[in-house]
Amino acid sequence: MLLKLIPVGAFAADLVKFVDVRLWPADEYTRVTLEHAGAIKYKYFLIENPWRMVIDLLDMRLDSTLKELTSRLHPDDPYVQQIRVGQYDTNTVRLVFDLKTEVKPEIFTIDPIAEYKNRFVVDFYPKKPADPLLTLLQKSEDPAARNDEISRALRLAESETNGGLKMEGVAPDKAPSKAANKTEVAKTQPNTPVEKKPAPQMKRMITVAIDPGHGGEDPGAVGKGGTYEKNVVLAISKKLKAEIDKMPGMRAMLTRNGDFFVPLNTRVQKARSVSADLFVSVHADAFIRPTAGGSSVYVLSERGATSTAAKWIANKENASDLIGGVNIKGTDSQLARVLLDLSTTAQINDSLKLGDAVLGKLGKVNRLHKPRVEQAGFAVLRAPDIPSILVETAFISNPAEETKLRDPDHQQELAEAIAKGIANYFAKNPPVARTPLT
Ligand SMILES: [Zn+2]
Repeated sequence: MLLKLIPVGAFAADLVKFVDVRLWPADEYTRVTLEHAGAIKYKYFLIENPWRMVIDLLDMRLDSTLKELTSRLHPDDPYVQQIRVGQYDTNTVRLVFDLKTEVKPEIFTIDPIAEYKNRFVVDFYPKKPADPLLTLLQKSEDPAARNDEISRALRLAESETNGGLKMEGVAPDKAPSKAANKTEVAKTQPNTPVEKKPAPQMKRMITVAIDPGHGGEDPGAVGKGGTYEKNVVLAISKKLKAEIDKMPGMRAMLTRNGDFFVPLNTRVQKARSVSADLFVSVHADAFIRPTAGGSSVYVLSERGATSTAAKWIANKENASDLIGGVNIKGTDSQLARVLLDLSTTAQINDSLKLGDAVLGKLGKVNRLHKPRVEQAGFAVLRAPDIPSILVETAFISNPAEETKLRDPDHQQELAEAIAKGIANYFAKNPPVARTPLT
């Protein structure tokens, strides 16, 4: 059955040349990228039983690059079963994606940027996206931790249904816990004010969101020896997660666990959706001068950057969305941006304390690029309610540091140093009961 036919107005160039085709399979979504020179005119439709997505590229001839798409498919791709490519008629190239399940596709184009020419992007999202909190719960093997989490999730759900307001104005006989009230009344004389007992201190798990920078179409900085920032920071982040998970009462989640791109505000939303207590974005710097080196830690700034170098780094990191490829017309990114503009002084103050603690420990395993935490307008640090830092572990553009960044032992040292810094921060600043922001 034909579900939809969406023609998109674009002027076809006489000759569209394909440069490369890439596939980025991940549980969250599978991305297909066709990189080309010139504009593409296309239409697409979905067919069910079984699910297929058909894309017609108009005024086009099938070439050898485009043909390679079929061989780029990974057998473990969560969404795509098979890809077929053919010359449908004299002027149309047809791509057929046989799907493993029902999907929510998004198609968009990206203008040339950085090393890339034009990109035609097809994202296959699951019809029902996985809930990050549930995923985290399933991974909590300790039953006590699970119970704690479940009650926390329930409290969160309750505060949301109450619009985030306390039930103070509710008449006693309408209060949710009738039985509890009766017991309380029986024990006290009429007209005697009910003594307020302090709420039992519930020891809760501390959740650390670890954000491996870049991924997928966005390689991040690339070292002279061909090392990609996205790969080393993922390796360090996984080691950091293991270190945090080993600490009692603490556990970590990764904003990406594979080689795929995650938009900057999605990274922040993921941390918020699991009520993270901290957000640590892991990167590896690059600079024009190969001699630049050392570790640095950044936090958000409300007014301007603390140095031109910090501003330069922030601009470079903020370009991640342009390079990685975000569907700007897609879903609720506008709403997310408004929320993320509510940056608070309190968040920045806590982030500075966290940054100091982490920088102190990094100084034991690597030289420091700057002796103190720097500030600039990093988009990924904009969670208004979560202390957030961005760690530039080392300079990938410095040949000696590039070699060290590739070394699993040094990755482990960096991970342990960051984890110790986080533990130090919590020792001095124990987490408080949270008040939901929205
Ligand atoms: Zn980076």
